[in-house]
Amino acid sequence: MTQYECQRCHRVFQRVGIENVCPVCAPLDEEDFRKIKEFLTEYPGASSNEVMRHTGVSLRQIKRYLKEERLEIVGDNKGFIRCELCGKPLNSGRFCDLCYREGISKEQKEVKATSYTRLNEDKHKYTTEVRYHGKK
Ligand SMILES: [Zn+2]
Ligand SMILES: [Zn+2]
Repeated sequence: MTQYECQRCHRVFQRVGIENVCPVCAPLDEEDFRKIKEFLTEYPGASSNEVMRHTGVSLRQIKRYLKEERLEIVGDNKGFIRCELCGKPLNSGRFCDLCYREGISKEQKEVKATSYTRLNEDKHKYTTEVRYHGKK
């Protein structure tokens, strides 16, 4: 287990896998995601700003859901999220195809490989889409 700062409330907690939020925030985080999912089911392809306005979920959090591959940008993403290693614009996830291996092996140095694999298998990706409307 490692000490990790909760991405929602910034409390430090004992991380058991690759979760990004503490046990207190986990249900709230699920609830926020559910709101986004519902909104996007009704308005597919809504911009991230629209999602923020209608669900009250912060852009920072929407960005995190994108990095967690629970949401995906459709169309031109204008660099709303970028590869954490090379900075290439991405539609979802944390690393581009080229950096994926390197990125994941870095991650695995911090987290036990077994728990990573387990969580990865459990992860299901929703097909709802966020489209980022950048200025043309
Ligand atoms: Zn928290
Ligand atoms: Zn990259």
